[in-house]
Amino acid sequence: AAMVKETIRVYARVKPPGRRQQAGIYSVDDDEKSLSSLEIIVPRDLADGFVNNKRESYKFKFQKIFDQEAKQDVVFDSIAKPVAECVLAGYNGTIFAYGQTGSGKTFTITGGAERYSDRGIIPRTLSYIFDQLRKDSSKVYTTHVSYLEIYNECGYDLLDPRHEASRLEDLPKVTIMEDPDQNIHLKNLSLQQATNEEEALNLLFLGDTNRMIAETPMNQASTRSHCIFTIHISSKEPGSATIRRSKLHLVDLAGSERVAKTGVGGHLLTEAKYINLSLHYLEQVIIALAEKNRSHIPYRNSMMTSVLRDSLGGNCMTTMIATLSLDKRNIDESLSTCRFAQRVALIKNEAVLNEEMDPKLMIVQLKKEIQELKDELALVTGKERTSELSQDELLQLDELIETFLEDNDPDSTLDVGADMRKIKYCFVHVKQLMNHSKISDKKLLSQHISEEKNTNKEAGEEELKKLKELLQQRDNEINILVNMLKKEKKKAQDALFQLNATSAGSTVLEQSHSINLEESQSPSSCFSLKEAKDFSSSVHRLPFLSRQTGGKMSLGCQEAFEVFKRDHADSITIEDHKQLLNQRFTEAKCLGEKLNEVRNKINHLKGEINQRHIQRAALAISSPSEELYTLDPVEEKLRTQIEEEKKRYKTMFNRLKGLKVEIEHLQLLMEKVKVKLQKDFEVWWSEESINLQQENPEMVSSPNTTTVYPRFIKSSQHLSTSSFSETTRVSPNEDPAGKNNSITSNNPTLKTRTPPISSTSIPLTGDSQADADILAFIKARQNILQKKGKSCQ
Ligand code: ADP
Ligand code: MG
Repeated sequence: AAMVKETIRVYARVKPPGRRQQAGIYSVDDDEKSLSSLEIIVPRDLADGFVNNKRESYKFKFQKIFDQEAKQDVVFDSIAKPVAECVLAGYNGTIFAYGQTGSGKTFTITGGAERYSDRGIIPRTLSYIFDQLRKDSSKVYTTHVSYLEIYNECGYDLLDPRHEASRLEDLPKVTIMEDPDQNIHLKNLSLQQATNEEEALNLLFLGDTNRMIAETPMNQASTRSHCIFTIHISSKEPGSATIRRSKLHLVDLAGSERVAKTGVGGHLLTEAKYINLSLHYLEQVIIALAEKNRSHIPYRNSMMTSVLRDSLGGNCMTTMIATLSLDKRNIDESLSTCRFAQRVALIKNEAVLNEEMDPKLMIVQLKKEIQELKDELALVTGKERTSELSQDELLQLDELIETFLEDNDPDSTLDVGADMRKIKYCFVHVKQLMNHSKISDKKLLSQHISEEKNTNKEAGEEELKKLKELLQQRDNEINILVNMLKKEKKKAQDALFQLNATSAGSTVLEQSHSINLEESQSPSSCFSLKEAKDFSSSVHRLPFLSRQTGGKMSLGCQEAFEVFKRDHADSITIEDHKQLLNQRFTEAKCLGEKLNEVRNKINHLKGEINQRHIQRAALAISSPSEELYTLDPVEEKLRTQIEEEKKRYKTMFNRLKGLKVEIEHLQLLMEKVKVKLQKDFEVWWSEESINLQQENPEMVSSPNTTTVYPRFIKSSQHLSTSSFSETTRVSPNEDPAGKNNSITSNNPTLKTRTPPISSTSIPLTGDSQADADILAFIKARQNILQKKGKSCQ
């Protein structure tokens, strides 16, 4: 099989600095032809804390460096598209992002939550792959996706449908199984079929949402877990027994930051420990692979290195993206990420074309081959090699047939038993006998005739002449009759045609109208205006929104949530999403209407052509002339017009399809932001409860105070589920275009939390309305805490 040997390609991407970050000093030397280099300067003022006496600048080589302003489409085109192409051709591929928390791994792999143009490698790759599959009709493709999360060395299936009902920890763990050929299999990881981009995207968002819901302050899954989204593709040419199977892993690794950043006395980074054990083992594997004569590679030490074994030094085309947050405070982490990247760049992989045989198709093929060989043998030896009747059996049969034929008793039967082969043989035999006797009869007859001819030769010749004349006469008669018939038929047709042209013209039009409609809808058109309208109702598809809920969110909590939402009102908002969505809806609707217009126009033009046909046909009957048999310039014009309209239709149709994908993406993003807001609120709420208790223990009069809050926190999962149902009911989610939905959030990616408002330092704003709100909220909160206290007594 074809094999491609190459080292892991390593790219770097520099994130734009955050608002409060101080930019670090670095420079990018971008060489189009060879590798690019990144120089990081360690500033003098930092060098002290760093114990950095020797060097001030560090240089690293990368395949290419994407600086702050590089957009997602460019990153996709140069990093992911080539990998996707290899995967389509039957090779395995992996793209993984490595870097400290906040450096842009998730942004690069999955995408940002704010804009459609921010979508990352996964959605773009899905879109690209399904586009290519649609274009290639020479093969039959099947696509599946899986989504694995590894947290604390345990694997979880993010697409497990039971996620809706249970917590991550309660689901069956994904475990590694190794077969005798040392292939890795993952037990309990579901492969979900996705037949198109939309289905695949839904699965991606479902997984992301499941992950978000499972995350708690105690388990910071988003920074400490690894996520592996895998696209599985199999392809087969029709009739061929060879199947190609390939996998594309898109990996968002845990944050690479280390617990101890600097050691004492010049021991910089080398002895620092990873937060994350799997990343530590990943580094060990990378080190082992980079060493020349190392035979044992410690893949088995961790789940992640087992899953990614092929991607690291194995059968895979692998690409790494080092994400860097190059502000001053992160210089050391950035250096460490770059060092890791340099080592990864040394690893050689050997990707092979993953072809295998389908056993069932193999059998069919082999059977066919055997038959062909048998035929060939029969041809060469002149003998049919069959497992049929033996010579003895045939002789016996011959005898039986003979006695049967000779038996004059009308009741006699030929009994050969219930053997199809024997019955067939008997029939063949009898047929042969019959043919034989016929031939001999004929021979006798012709002998007889020739004898007569010889005797009456002259008389015979005269007879022949007469017969010939008679024949000629009959021929003429027949010709005359045929001509007469033709004329009759033509008359009848003309009459019918005139009838159509005058009275039944409308039905002709109607017929052609319905046919035209079918024609003008391209075969791939699974999309109509009706569907465009249905976009608006597809918002509630995420399953967690329909979770079964136990209790209800209390009134105080609800009120607090409303204030919490308002606190987020000042920056990027769901409102933006909604406006954009509305805009897109309107665009889609408008396009749909235009599409309809064009379709009607095409049909109208076709109708005109038809009418033209009828007119000309009528003209041809009344005053025949040569001209009428030549091309009709008017019709030609109409046809070019139709072609143009069809082109317009096609472009608009494609735009509508694009819009549909975008709208769905936006809707999914919006759902995600809403869930995240909810989660943030819950976290903040429980933190608040603790703070409040610590600061004002006397506020709760219950003697059971100590047990009150832990219970409250424990029930946060419960709270979360109940508040989902509450939001779907209270917040106007039913209005997907969201005209009156006022949920807002100042940070949809929500890396920062709202600073806790503690009751000891009420942040009055001076704005009387806002202050009233805050006070009302705090009162509500105290109420609910007291109630909680009482209910626990
Ligand atoms: P990580 O997954 O590595 O922890 P994120 O992808 O969550 O980091 O990025 C942290 C924040 O920075 C997010 O708000 C993200 O939107 C933003 N961000 C990251 N990379 C970029 C970029 N290239 N351009 C714009 N914003 C970015
Ligand atoms: Mg992340």
